[in-house]
Amino acid sequence: MISCTVCGRPPANTYEISLHGEATCVTHQVADRCALCVRPRHSGERSWARFTATTVRCPTCVRAAVETQEHARRHIPRVRADMAALGIALAQRVRVTLVDPDAINLGSRTLCLGRTLQRVWVETSVTDVLGIEVAGGLTETQFCATVVHEIGHAWLAQRGAVGLDHTLEEGVCELFAGAWLKRQGTPFADELRRSALENPDPVYGGGYRLVREAVVRHGIAAVLDHVCTRGDLP
Ligand SMILES: [Zn+2]
Ligand SMILES: [Zn+2]
Ligand SMILES: [Zn+2]
Repeated sequence: MISCTVCGRPPANTYEISLHGEATCVTHQVADRCALCVRPRHSGERSWARFTATTVRCPTCVRAAVETQEHARRHIPRVRADMAALGIALAQRVRVTLVDPDAINLGSRTLCLGRTLQRVWVETSVTDVLGIEVAGGLTETQFCATVVHEIGHAWLAQRGAVGLDHTLEEGVCELFAGAWLKRQGTPFADELRRSALENPDPVYGGGYRLVREAVVRHGIAAVLDHVCTRGDLP
């Protein structure tokens, strides 16, 4: 029997479902929401944790959180193996570092979960990938999907696909993250993938939908080949 995250009773009428599938009656007053699974927080609820300076995480997300570099390191071999199975292997390995979520969210419009540091040599336009930073405190599934997304940026750079249209580049990386999430076969991973596909952001959600449409029409290999050699979609 499903029970409400606030009152503990079976939700009687209308209720909301978080990305973890947890229900909350709509009648409870909402103070804010979990930044990772959108679960509503009632002002009386304790045991929520900070994410960034302005956002919070629910107890369910906190229980699955990757908070330390050591914990992060345990997940990375599986992510690399899954990526290789999808045909995305990096020519040079890139170091993944957990960072304070506030450090990568200074003045950002939407919540940023990770970033790839690159150095472009002006004369040759050769790009070195210096490393991947991922926000500490994500759930394991979101941590891995973020690493996959950022490995996507590193892979494009190593394949020489630099200076791509922002929407196209983020769309390709979201496609990789979506493909990884699909492989997990868990309800939470499925919900994350669905929410990425429905993301109203024109760059992330719009880019993902654009690239996915091209993949449906031409196949992944042809799309990636076109992006890497000509810098646009077939
Ligand atoms: Zn309730
Ligand atoms: Zn949550
Ligand atoms: Zn990105």
